[in-house]
Amino acid sequence: MISGAIVEALQEIVPKEKIRLNQPLEKYTSFRIGGPADCLVEVGGAEQLRRLKKYAETEGIPFFILGNGSNLLADDQGFRGIVLHIGSSMNEIRITGNTITARAGALLSQVARAALEHGLTGLEFASGIPGSIGGGVVMNAGAYGGELGQVVESVTVLDEEGKELELSNARMEFGYRTSAVKRHPYIVTEVRLQLRPGDPEQIRERMEDLAGRRREKQPLEFPSAGSTFKRPEGYFAGELIMKAGLRGLQIGGARVSDKHCGFVINAGNATAADVKELMKVIQDRVKEEFGVKLEPEVILMGGEA
Ligand SMILES: Cc1cc2nc3c(=O)[nH]c(=O)nc-3n(C[C@H](O)[C@H](O)[C@H](O)COP(=O)(O)OP(=O)(O)OC[C@H]3O[C@@H](n4cnc5c(N)ncnc54)[C@H](O)[C@@H]3O)c2cc1C
Repeated sequence: MISGAIVEALQEIVPKEKIRLNQPLEKYTSFRIGGPADCLVEVGGAEQLRRLKKYAETEGIPFFILGNGSNLLADDQGFRGIVLHIGSSMNEIRITGNTITARAGALLSQVARAALEHGLTGLEFASGIPGSIGGGVVMNAGAYGGELGQVVESVTVLDEEGKELELSNARMEFGYRTSAVKRHPYIVTEVRLQLRPGDPEQIRERMEDLAGRRREKQPLEFPSAGSTFKRPEGYFAGELIMKAGLRGLQIGGARVSDKHCGFVINAGNATAADVKELMKVIQDRVKEEFGVKLEPEVILMGGEA
């Protein structure tokens, strides 16, 4: 529970209108699932973030960093504590030469558009990924042969003590859907990308081509969190799920997409419990049939892991 005293303390750090109580997380996640967060704060910058983190830690209040909520399954019970939302209040993009510097809340689509407008190539692959650039570097988001690790020059984070660190690409330890931020309690505040000059017409064409491929292959007409499972070495999760005969399998409102079996979709009023149960059935059946362990790509927020 968030007391009046906590709200007062938060107001010392951020303007009153940036603090919201009892916010349904379904409003903040692409799955459109999740109960209420006790408190959600729109973070306006790195200094606010540092102070908010310090306050929560000193008071022993759990907190969670929320980007664009496109890789999350929020619990039906919501989140007990403070959600720090790094979104549109922290989304400036600056461009100098071939370098783009974006604050963590900028959407990948916005950064990719800025790159196009400045005739910079290398980020086309990310234009259809519905995350923030902060969430994107955490996950080393990628598609169609590209991933953020290929274009990131450096990432500014707050470390566990709230100190600002600038991590080079090598120190980010990018791997398949992972980075140093997943292994350390870092919070991304800014990302610097190094792109190359390119022909705007070709950049636009590539972005349109990839968007068309997404529309054709992915169930974008339903809420989801993208690929539910990571790609297991040597296989495609969607293909294994299809071959296990699970296409269209539905539990409550959660369904294995008929269009792309790698996506669990919210077919209507799905709960987090429905999604978790369906994920478990999928994992068990794929393990039984093919001996392959599917690891979730989707991150659980709140509740038990
Ligand atoms: C339709 C659809 C298609 C998708 N396609 C792709 C795809 O092609 N490729 C791909 O890789 N992903 C894809 N995704 C998944 C998702 O968009 C990416 O993983 C994205 O990078 C997540 O960013 P986000 O801002 O939404 O992060 P969130 O979902 O908000 O958070 C994800 C994790 O990152 C943490 N986090 C977020 N911001 C920060 C920060 N600033 N500092 C520290 N930690 C932070 C959160 O705490 C959480 O642990 C897709 C999702 C959907 C719904």
